[in-house]
Amino acid sequence: MMSAVPLQRTAEITDHSERRVTLLGATGSIGASAIDLLKRQPERYRIEAVTAGRNAEALAKLARELGARFAAVADPTCYAALKEALAGSGIEIGAGEAAVIEAARRPADWVIAAITGAAGLKPTLAAAERGTIVALANKECLVCAGTAFMRRAAAAGATVLPVDSEHNAIFQALGAGPREAVLRIILTASGGPFRDWPLEAIRNATLEEALKHPNWSMGPKITIDSATMMNKGLEIIEAHHLFDLAADQIDVLVHPQSIVHGMVEFMDGSVVAQLGPPDMRVPIAHCLAWPARIMGANRLRLDQMTSLTFAEPDLARFPALRLACEALRAGAGAPTVLNAANEVAVAEFIGGRLRFCGIAALVEATLESSASRGLLHEPADMEEALAIDHDARRLARDLLPEIAAKTI
Ligand code: NAD
Ligand code: MG
Repeated sequence: MMSAVPLQRTAEITDHSERRVTLLGATGSIGASAIDLLKRQPERYRIEAVTAGRNAEALAKLARELGARFAAVADPTCYAALKEALAGSGIEIGAGEAAVIEAARRPADWVIAAITGAAGLKPTLAAAERGTIVALANKECLVCAGTAFMRRAAAAGATVLPVDSEHNAIFQALGAGPREAVLRIILTASGGPFRDWPLEAIRNATLEEALKHPNWSMGPKITIDSATMMNKGLEIIEAHHLFDLAADQIDVLVHPQSIVHGMVEFMDGSVVAQLGPPDMRVPIAHCLAWPARIMGANRLRLDQMTSLTFAEPDLARFPALRLACEALRAGAGAPTVLNAANEVAVAEFIGGRLRFCGIAALVEATLESSASRGLLHEPADMEEALAIDHDARRLARDLLPEIAAKTI
């Protein structure tokens, strides 16, 4: 069965109503793109709450600029800095995970979930449970606990709109025909900085090389995920949950120009694509105004494009993509473990304690070890998914010395 998710509440929304907006992860790359759009239309949007991980100064500056009512920082040790930076502003403040969840719970019509990693799960869920519009950037949240998240969002009557550019493209293209007529969807991938590199060179890539994405400017974690192509693997799992599609209905094509973001193939032979410049303001604008439209980014100059190319991804050079596909097919707790191990591996690579090829190796070892310990059971609910996430992180850290030594 293909249920129609995102869940539509179109009738309640008028084109000209003011939207009260909350930004979870306001100080990040997605947060900055959203704020750029919001600042262009101050009469249309009012800011309820903004949150950050630990950068209290940056958060305070944004809260003042945007006239937010509430600002929350996840790291409790940053409370004093936030208090000082917002003294006299009249903006309420909070610190700690509970304060970020409180920010998500405050009355807003539209919440962007742009915290990075599974840390975004509880606040994103808190927003969804209010039955609001959730513009979802945080893909890790769906990979960690997609079934439980989508179930609880649907029960609350929330509208989940995909911010991730490929999923936003699919969402737009799916409108072209009935769900029963969909054969498959195609997510495009830039291929990242190592698209044409030989395996041996990729294995030893440096942090600096991995952080140089050819087309997109993004936060560090997703940039590394793009270099390993784990990002595309996470996106396949994200698409599975967002659109209720089976693994064999979701394909990936490497498209280095990053102009076609996603395609839907219908049974009559039509392939409907969404095109746009590689600029996250396009999908964010789509979600921000949905179901209306607002100005997003510079217009696409198709006349200046010499070619748009598509190729199959190379799973031998990008084992992380293979692991994500396998985890989706295995189902149950495998995607949760994959995501947790990947978050640990990427942090260790950024910290200089793991080589680039060690990222996929650590994820694979954690999946294998979890399987042999019987930890890959289906999480019955969100709490169980978080428990699996917790155990998988510990296991990945335990396996780290061995994998780091092996991948030298
Ligand atoms: P980023 O690192 O630039 O920003 C992350 C934000 O989350 C920051 O505001 C940070 O302060 C906050 N944060 C970090 N740890 C936190 C914690 N433990 N608790 C609360 N807040 C915390 O990341 P980004 O590139 O903006 O990506 C955000 C999310 O959007 C990710 O899930 C990513 O996969 C997804 N996404 C990003 C892009 C992109 O172009 N950047 C595209 C598609 C999807
Ligand atoms: Mg994407």
